[in-house]
Amino acid sequence: MRSHYCGGLNKTHIGEEVVLKGWVHRRRDHGGVIFLDVRDRDGVAQVVFDPDREESFNLADSVRNEFVIEVHGLVRGRPEGTINSEMPTGEIEVLGKELVILNKSETPPFQLDEHQQVGEDVRLRHRYIDLRRPEMQEKMRFRSKVTNAIRNFMDDNGFLDIETPILNRATPEGARDYLVPSRTHEGSFFALPQSPQLFKQLLMVSGFDRYYQIAKCFRDEDLRADRQPEFTQIDIETSFMDEEEIMGMTETMIRKLFLDMLDVDLGDFPRMPYSEAMQRYGSDKPDLRFPMELVDVADLMAEIEFKVFAGPAKDPNGRVAALKVPGGAQLTRKIIDEYTKFVGIYGAKGLAWIKVNELEKGVEGLQSPIVKFLGPDVAMAIMERLEAKNGDIIFFGADKEKVVSEALGALRIKVGEDMNMAQCEWAPLWVVDFPMFEETDKGSLTALHHPFTAPSCSAEELKANPLDALSRAYDMVLNGCELGGGSVRIHDQAMQKTVFGVLGISDEEAEEKFGFLLNALKFGAPPHGGLAFGLDRLIMLMTGTDSIREVIAFPKTQSASCMMTEAPGIVSAAQLRELNIKLRKTP
Ligand code: ASP
Repeated sequence: MRSHYCGGLNKTHIGEEVVLKGWVHRRRDHGGVIFLDVRDRDGVAQVVFDPDREESFNLADSVRNEFVIEVHGLVRGRPEGTINSEMPTGEIEVLGKELVILNKSETPPFQLDEHQQVGEDVRLRHRYIDLRRPEMQEKMRFRSKVTNAIRNFMDDNGFLDIETPILNRATPEGARDYLVPSRTHEGSFFALPQSPQLFKQLLMVSGFDRYYQIAKCFRDEDLRADRQPEFTQIDIETSFMDEEEIMGMTETMIRKLFLDMLDVDLGDFPRMPYSEAMQRYGSDKPDLRFPMELVDVADLMAEIEFKVFAGPAKDPNGRVAALKVPGGAQLTRKIIDEYTKFVGIYGAKGLAWIKVNELEKGVEGLQSPIVKFLGPDVAMAIMERLEAKNGDIIFFGADKEKVVSEALGALRIKVGEDMNMAQCEWAPLWVVDFPMFEETDKGSLTALHHPFTAPSCSAEELKANPLDALSRAYDMVLNGCELGGGSVRIHDQAMQKTVFGVLGISDEEAEEKFGFLLNALKFGAPPHGGLAFGLDRLIMLMTGTDSIREVIAFPKTQSASCMMTEAPGIVSAAQLRELNIKLRKTP
C-alpha cells in the first residue's frame, strides 16, 4: 500500500520513510543524479536517485514519462537554494531507495509535464490520459464535492434518494427521444428518460413526500456548447409545498453550495416575471451582470415612411426595440458588420444603428445610415427615450417579436462581454409567471415547460384563453444560464385532462401514453411540485469553464458521438435480426 499521496507530502514528513505509487511526470538527469517527479491524483513530489544505490539508479535511468512506478524512500528537506515555492511539495524531496516499475507507457499522444495546446479531438480520443492532467483532476474532484454537498443538503432536509428506471415509455420534455428496441416485444421500443418527471410525480402519489435523485437524462437534440445528449440532473420533487416554499428551499441549497465551495455569497435571488424578462432583456434567462436593456420604440416608428421599421411597428406580432450601448460610438465598421452577422443567426435581417457623436447639435450630431429615413423628430424622440449621451451607439431591431427579442437579447450579452461591461461576477434570479403554452410555427400549442405543470388559473379560463394563461413554473437563472427549472404540478385528474385537451392530445392518445398517470391522479394524489437542476451546467459555471465537455469525464462530441469508444457503433446483422430490425440502408 502507498503510505502517502505525493501531493500530500510536506515539511512535517521530513525523516519519514514513505511509499509512493504513481506516474512518472518528468525525468531529469542532473550530473549523475536522477530526479523523477512522481505524480498521483493529489499532486507531484520530487524523488532523487543517487548512483550509490546502483539498482534503483539504473531503473530510474530507464523509466520514461507516464511509466507507473512504486517508490520507497526517505523524505528530506531540500537543500537551501533548491526550494521550489511554485510547487506545493517544493520544500521537500524524497531520497529514492527502492524503485519498482509497475507498468510501462508508450510516449503519450500529448505531453503532460508541461502545458501544451492540444486539440480537443486528440484529448477526447485519449480521454483517460487527458483526465490525468491536474486541471481535469481538479474539475472531477470539484464535481464530486458538489454532488456530495448536494446529497448532504438533501439528506439533512429529509429527502430520499430513489432511483427511477432508464428503460421507459417516452416522457415529453419537448426533445426527441433516444429509443431502445425491445427484443422480447417485437416492434416495440423503450425510450430513455428525458427526465424522471412522471416517476417522481408517482413517488409523491406513493407518499414519499420528498424525493431527489442525481439522475442521468437523455435528449436527442441538436447540440450547442452547453448541451450534451446525456446529462445529469439534480432532480427534486416534494409534496404539500407551494412554489414559494420550493423556490425558497432550493435557493437556500444553491446559496449554501456557493458559500461552502467558492466562498461566494449570492444573496437573495430577485424574481422577475417572464414577460418582463423578455421585454427588458429579450430572454427568458436574462444575464443581469450586464446593465443594458432593450427599449421599445414601436410607438415612435409606426407613422414613418420607412417600411423596415413602420411594418413591424404596426404588426401586432412585431416588435421594434433599441439597445443603447454606452461608449459604443467608438465601435468600428468592421465590428458593427460582425454584430450584423451575429444577429443574423437569430433571424434578424439587418442591424440598424445610430452613433451619438454630438447631441448638442441635434440630428446633425448623429451618425447613422438610417437617420434620414426616420426624420429629425423621430430621431430626437428616440434619443430622449433612450436617454442617449455622446459616445453611445444605439442598435435597432425591427421584425417579428421573437426575432427582435432573441437577436437584441443575444447582442446585449455579446457586446456586454466584448466591452467588459459586467457589473458583478454572479447575477442569480428566478424567472416566474411563465405562459402555460406557446404557439408553434404550425399554429398548434405546446407546453412551455411540460404538460404536467399546473396553471395559475381555473380550467375554464385555461380553455377560454390558453395563450393568456400563466403557469406555476419557475426557472433559476445564473449569469444568463438556466441552472434549473420546475413547477407546481397538476394533481387533479380533470385539470390534467383539460391541459391535454388544450394541447390537442385526444382522450385516446392521453390514455394510451399517460393512462398510468391519469389513473394515479385518481387515487389520492397530493399537491406536489419540484424542479431539476442541470448538474453539468452548474459545475461549468462554478468552475468558470466555457464548455460543458470540460466538466464531464467522458463527454460526447457536438455530433453526439464518443471519440474514444466510437459509439454509436454498427451492430451485427445477427443482433438486428434478434431485434427484428431491418435497416433501410446498410451502412
Ligand atoms: N423535469 C423537468 C425538466 O427536466 C424539471 C421539472 O419540472 O422538475 O426540465
